[in-house]
Amino acid sequence: MTAPLIDPFHRPISYLRVSVTDRCDFRCVYCMSENMTFLPKKELLTLEELDRLCSTFVQLGVEKLRITGGEPLVRRDILKFFQSMTRHLDSGALKELTVTTNGSQLERFADDLYAAGVRRINLSLDTVDEQKFADITRWGRLPQVLRGIDAAQKAGLRIKINAVALKGFNEDELFTIAEWCAERDMDLTWIEVMPMGDIGNEQRLDQYWKLTDLRARLAEQYTLTDLAERTGGPARYVRIEETGQKVGFITPLSHNFCESCNRVRLTCTGELFMCLGQEDMADLRGPLRNHPESDAALEDAIRAAIRLKPKGHDFDYSRQSVDGRVSRHMSHTGG
Ligand code: SAM
Ligand code: SF4
Repeated sequence: MTAPLIDPFHRPISYLRVSVTDRCDFRCVYCMSENMTFLPKKELLTLEELDRLCSTFVQLGVEKLRITGGEPLVRRDILKFFQSMTRHLDSGALKELTVTTNGSQLERFADDLYAAGVRRINLSLDTVDEQKFADITRWGRLPQVLRGIDAAQKAGLRIKINAVALKGFNEDELFTIAEWCAERDMDLTWIEVMPMGDIGNEQRLDQYWKLTDLRARLAEQYTLTDLAERTGGPARYVRIEETGQKVGFITPLSHNFCESCNRVRLTCTGELFMCLGQEDMADLRGPLRNHPESDAALEDAIRAAIRLKPKGHDFDYSRQSVDGRVSRHMSHTGG
């Protein structure tokens, strides 16, 4: 029996997020600059290498795999990768295979994702106004995403909407977005904007809308009941009694959530980040490529990395400057 992955703070690591590409067909203003430079394709792990890496993690006790990016569904042949992970669902080793997407490609992938065993997806959407959507994503178009949502629901995929709370941008849509999600029977999670990647200090402070404020505003109109439910992840949930829907808050800045962290993140070049908010990482591409004959070296490298998982991140806006910032873009590590 293989020993499970346990970090120095006694947290079992059962959740792997995998960024399968750093590329994207959108350019969300808080995530990327308009003229991002992407990695040369040869730097990327092949789909076979991603399979071997993910399968090793599953072997070591990872039960939940989230495929993200960049935009995961723009990676060529990505469906084959999902289909190859189905065997771990079938064996029972993997409990959940899921994806975080901007929804642009869902119309064509929804049925196949369901067939591969995906049941729930996170879809990022910060506004339901067509013009504002075009503004915030620069290259995205809302009707295309809405068609993707329809296709996903028709295929049987459960959708959770992730919205980044942005001051002066979607504050006025607080209730509209909640009601829009409720009408479509979708859960909703608000995320505080994080200082990832250099897009300018001033801009970050301007964007930051504290979720405690958002929640207080929501409570002016709705009855909110705190839910005890935690998914081992950063979100805290309330139920809106009037609509029955669940709303989550991910508050890396106003409330640190690291004590129950069960996850690590793999980039598309095989770097393993033990914490989203720290620079430390372990290279897994070396042990993967240098030892094609056996996974022993890879397993050792993974275990050694988990022993270095830090207690938490250091993001902090409280001193009116962005402290604890990390230079990577979210699209590199995978949100
Ligand atoms: N392209 C996919 C998408 O947008 O869902 C997956 C990758 S994207 C990097 C994952 C999530 O990170 C999205 O929900 C996005 O809104 C969020 N994100 C990107 N940059 C962020 C930032 N600086 N702070 C907070 N969330 C961010
Ligand atoms: Fe692309 Fe997602 Fe980043 Fe937007 S948030 S630019 S959709 S990776």
